[in-house]
Amino acid sequence: MTRCIPLCPHNCLAIGTRRAIAGRHCMKMGHNDSKGGESGSSMADIRKGSLHLVRLAGIDVYLHWSWFLVAMYEIGDRAHTYSAIEWNVLEYLALFLIVLLHEFGHALACRQVGGTANRIVLWPLGGVAYVSPPPRPAATLWSIAAGPLVNVALLPVLGLLRVASGSFGWALTMPNLDLMLHALWIINLILLIFNLLPVYPLDGGQILRSLLWFGLGRARSLMAAVIFGFFGTAGLLGLAYWARSIWIGLIAVYVLMNCWTAWQRAQALLKLEKSSRHGGFACPDCKVAPPVGNFWICGKCKKTFDTFLTRAVCPSCAAQFPVTRCLECGNVRPMSQWELAAASQTT
Ligand SMILES: [Zn+2]
Ligand SMILES: [Zn+2]
Ligand SMILES: [Zn+2]
Repeated sequence: MTRCIPLCPHNCLAIGTRRAIAGRHCMKMGHNDSKGGESGSSMADIRKGSLHLVRLAGIDVYLHWSWFLVAMYEIGDRAHTYSAIEWNVLEYLALFLIVLLHEFGHALACRQVGGTANRIVLWPLGGVAYVSPPPRPAATLWSIAAGPLVNVALLPVLGLLRVASGSFGWALTMPNLDLMLHALWIINLILLIFNLLPVYPLDGGQILRSLLWFGLGRARSLMAAVIFGFFGTAGLLGLAYWARSIWIGLIAVYVLMNCWTAWQRAQALLKLEKSSRHGGFACPDCKVAPPVGNFWICGKCKKTFDTFLTRAVCPSCAAQFPVTRCLECGNVRPMSQWELAAASQTT
């Protein structure tokens, strides 16, 4: 019986999680977003066309419409694994429940260290937790590691269920249940292993980045992880060709797109680290003076500008921003508070 193979060259690749930040709904949120921050926009787009499923612990869970199409295909593709199609449906739902638990691991850990996490999107390639941990290596490391740790915690749980199935002889009395328990144990294990590949933006790649952050700093650690990611993309493309798997191919493209965005972000971070600072302002939270340069993006006309030169007014379209994002800690504060913080530092 080919239990493992049909299990999923697709499913195992089911998780491309990544941290995305704040997003670019700058006008809606009333601030001019930073371009030097950790934020990535490539994934922000999958929120469009998503169905709101549930709100748990203040975290909104969405399901992308394409999930239904792929689910139908995948369930149909494995139609003969079980004696009834309902079990295929159940297995597919259970897979995404595991993915969801993994994403909640990221989100709750991120909140624990003082970051923001209020949205999870499930889509055919897995899940995306929109988490924004404070830009410190330890906080970032914990937010990322907590996802795979959920899969680690599930190993003994699913393992025990399999043992129970064996000792109660469910393979004979309830063969479908026995098959599914076996499948879920393997799915969880594959999800764990796949996510730990040191390929940015997979969790393993982001863990690597967080570890490097301690020694190399924020920008260079990201750069190093992304270079690893580019090699990983090549490996995944080779694997996709070898396995004739469109899913691995899609994952490779996904990884490549994210690496490219992250590469540009790393360049921006490097520029940020090297830039001189505005003397009259300091972040009310982290006390760091803002950099001189066009690091902010107007949410209305999308042009970049130096918001501290114009006091939170876009020089191109004259849009005014009530709050401004700190590129160091990610918090948003009104311009007046930035001035006050600088003044209180000098006195
Ligand atoms: Zn993850
Ligand atoms: Zn503008
Ligand atoms: Zn700050």
